[in-house]
Amino acid sequence: MSLEDENHKWVYTYGAGKAEGNRTQRNLLGGKGVGLHDMCSIGVPVPPGFTITTEVCTYYYDHDKTYPKKLEGDIQNGMKHIESIVGKKFGDESDPLLVSVRSGARVSMPGMMDTILNLGLNDKTVVGLHTKTGNERFAYDSYRRFIQMFGDIVMGVPHADFEKVLQGVKDKAGVKLDTELNTDNLKEVITGYKALINEKKGHEFPQDVQEQLKQAIHAVFGSWNNPRAITYRNINDIPHTWGTAVNIVAMVFGNMGDTSATGVAFTRNPATGEKVFFGEYLINAQGEDVVAGIRTPQQISNAGKAAQGSDLPSMEESMPEMYKELNEVREKLEKHNKDMQDIEFTIQEGKLYLLQCRNGKRTAKAAVKIAVDLYNEGILDKDQALLLVDPTAINQLLHRQIDPKAKKTVLSKGLNASPGAASGTIVFTAEDAEKKAKDGPVILLREETSPDDITGMHVAKGVITSRGGMTSHAAVVARGMGAPCITGCGEMVINFEKKTVSFGNKDLKEGDWISMSGDTGEIYEGQVPTVEPQISGDFQTIMKWADETRRLHIEANAETPKDAQQARDFGAEGIGLVRTEHMFFDPKRIISIRKMILADNDEEKRAALAELLPYQTGDFEALFKIMDGYPVTIRLLDPPLHEFLPKTDKDIKELAAEIKVSEELIRKRIVTLHELNPMLGDRGCRLCISRPEITEMQGRAIFTAAMNCAKQGIKVYPQIMIPLAVSKKEIQILKEILDKEKATLEKENNVQIPYVFGTMIELPRACLKADELASLAHFFSFGTNDLTQTTLGISRDDFSFRDCYKENGIFDSDPFAVIDEEGVGELIKMAITRGKKVQKELRTGICGEHGGDPKSIQFADACGMDYVSCSPFRIPIARLAAAQAVVKNKKK
Ligand code: ADP
Ligand code: MG
Ligand code: MG
Repeated sequence: MSLEDENHKWVYTYGAGKAEGNRTQRNLLGGKGVGLHDMCSIGVPVPPGFTITTEVCTYYYDHDKTYPKKLEGDIQNGMKHIESIVGKKFGDESDPLLVSVRSGARVSMPGMMDTILNLGLNDKTVVGLHTKTGNERFAYDSYRRFIQMFGDIVMGVPHADFEKVLQGVKDKAGVKLDTELNTDNLKEVITGYKALINEKKGHEFPQDVQEQLKQAIHAVFGSWNNPRAITYRNINDIPHTWGTAVNIVAMVFGNMGDTSATGVAFTRNPATGEKVFFGEYLINAQGEDVVAGIRTPQQISNAGKAAQGSDLPSMEESMPEMYKELNEVREKLEKHNKDMQDIEFTIQEGKLYLLQCRNGKRTAKAAVKIAVDLYNEGILDKDQALLLVDPTAINQLLHRQIDPKAKKTVLSKGLNASPGAASGTIVFTAEDAEKKAKDGPVILLREETSPDDITGMHVAKGVITSRGGMTSHAAVVARGMGAPCITGCGEMVINFEKKTVSFGNKDLKEGDWISMSGDTGEIYEGQVPTVEPQISGDFQTIMKWADETRRLHIEANAETPKDAQQARDFGAEGIGLVRTEHMFFDPKRIISIRKMILADNDEEKRAALAELLPYQTGDFEALFKIMDGYPVTIRLLDPPLHEFLPKTDKDIKELAAEIKVSEELIRKRIVTLHELNPMLGDRGCRLCISRPEITEMQGRAIFTAAMNCAKQGIKVYPQIMIPLAVSKKEIQILKEILDKEKATLEKENNVQIPYVFGTMIELPRACLKADELASLAHFFSFGTNDLTQTTLGISRDDFSFRDCYKENGIFDSDPFAVIDEEGVGELIKMAITRGKKVQKELRTGICGEHGGDPKSIQFADACGMDYVSCSPFRIPIARLAAAQAVVKNKKK
């Protein structure tokens, strides 16, 4: 039904066991709303209410901040619905209905408007509430809370100003706690609050209850675009187009005496996953008192009480009847939702009400235990159990972590760019990192990093940068290495000359100890102890199920033996991408490559390359050995040559001395090699063609290594791939060079060296010409980083308008993190279809950052690809994501 339709439904009611909404309508009703409707329809006690849909929010922003015409009447009908169930009237001076106004987006989202409780109170209805309940203090306490919430949240009078008024009355009355204020004191607070609002706003606190309701609803929709909410959505990849729903819920009171209470609970322990009813409650309290820390909350169950070492009576002890009822609800909700639940409840004079339920947040450790337990309890089948574990969260189980018991002082916080924990002494340059790492662990602090810093990053235990985001060079490289990394720590100011750094008002110098957690983005003072990751039996069980279920092969991006071994340990089934250039940055080798670049004539070039040959051969041998029985896919040299040249005066001087040419000449060569747009310049297969001697050397190294390994009985499956190709001719030229090298070696040694030849697909033209490329290539490896850059014409490193594009609804998520299915994805599908027409057995896969992203992995599975390749530390994530992809794509 169109939004313009006269009969469009904007409001959904629920109550007394019937709900207009149902569990499939999360997008429309929001998370909180869907929980209320669903609980109501399965017979869990909830106070009646209604939900104004997220479509109203979208409408509001699409129509110049106006509402659909019909809405006001629909809201009035909603209120009548509540009134008829509760048997009270909104604004009635003798027995008023009160409601709460609660926001609720599809996913829980801090930063938006807080809930307003007790709406509907004014100078007259408060008297009715008093006489009806016979509890004057309760009535006036509710009223003063309401004015405070409304004044703060809707009218924008600072919370602190209200606190000042309250404190003033407390001081005058000579009491410490809010609960010690008597009715007269509370009336004085109310007078003070009203005066405050008048003074700050120039108008009265609204006495008209309809006006209160209207303003509160308006405030929720307005809060969708609070700066805090916008930032939260940008960081968490939540589309700005979703909008929030508003829930209007009849009030129930946990603060009506000793048979009333309020609480929050998890149906299982969210930290460990143990099947223990886990939560807290307070007798004679309202809503958020439990989390506000005014009184010490009590445990729900005896088991929870024992686990927390609490000496206050549990609910199981002090309210056994209510506990029994709550525990039944707990079991019912778990079975119904097939997951651990996070619930909110209130008991009003011995009657239980649920106010919220949702799937509970949990640690990775708890996630795997709960998934396996729910399977064993017969609540989930294996497919469902697999879906219960968030693949990206299992990172927590694979890295060292800050000891949760350790005392620590937080220095600052940045983005949690790469998980894990580390302690070390501060260094400010890659060179210093290399020098100092010999004496102990170091942490590298930079403004941002570049390919020059790679060796320094390798020896550092962790990297922190003041600039850059989740896909900056530092973040990508650190994730690849499995090292913790924090980026975008704006508070960190480095003085490179003095070798000092400040975090706010705290100054440190080179050599001082710090610690960091890449899981939280926190930086700590001194040496905080870390602990080994615990890989529990349940984790293994989940991974076993994942391997039985998935269809995609999972391979690794790896160059070093260390990374390759790590990848094997994590279950990689081969290497999908060896970036050979990474092998050149080693200080010993970079000299040879620089010589090669600077050489005048062929002879010198070949001499320099001859120096590199044994290194490369050794590198490949090491990888083949570790990957015994699995394919190793080697990409020929890819980046533009200038990346290998010295950058600073000092480097130039050193190089000149080392290779005995003038500094002058080096500078000239740097100028010649300079490109305006190196990303689109002489790189990839273009370089391999314009510098065939490099291709010859690399081919020779690969074949020699394969031959040597085969002699030792190792099962080698070398695969060579051509970067950045757009035409058949390019790969044909390179294949001829490789085949010639191979033939020579085979003849010299009288052996056969089989290899598989393929190409990367990373330019739109390559997708268009996929049939031609497939006539020579036996596999396509989609280099989705470059393919995204070139399809969108956006440079990943200059994507500073990312948030702006999200806020304007142009991208829902970062196309460099999650594959752009509509654009890049279409090209990929086309390339696969065209390629397979020519080469039936064509093997296809993704390498690059997307290869480790669960949503992109689901896409790869749906396109019928054969494999994904990602950094070693993402292998377990990819294994699980690939299994989930099968389950989800089956459902589709
Ligand atoms: P949040 O998203 O911050 O949890 P909620 O809307 O759930 O916000 O409400 C905040 C608190 O107020 C919770 O403790 C909730 O249980 C309580 N609350 C909300 N609506 C009502 C109501 N109608 N009656 C009683 N308590 C309520
Ligand atoms: Mg809540
Ligand atoms: Mg590329």
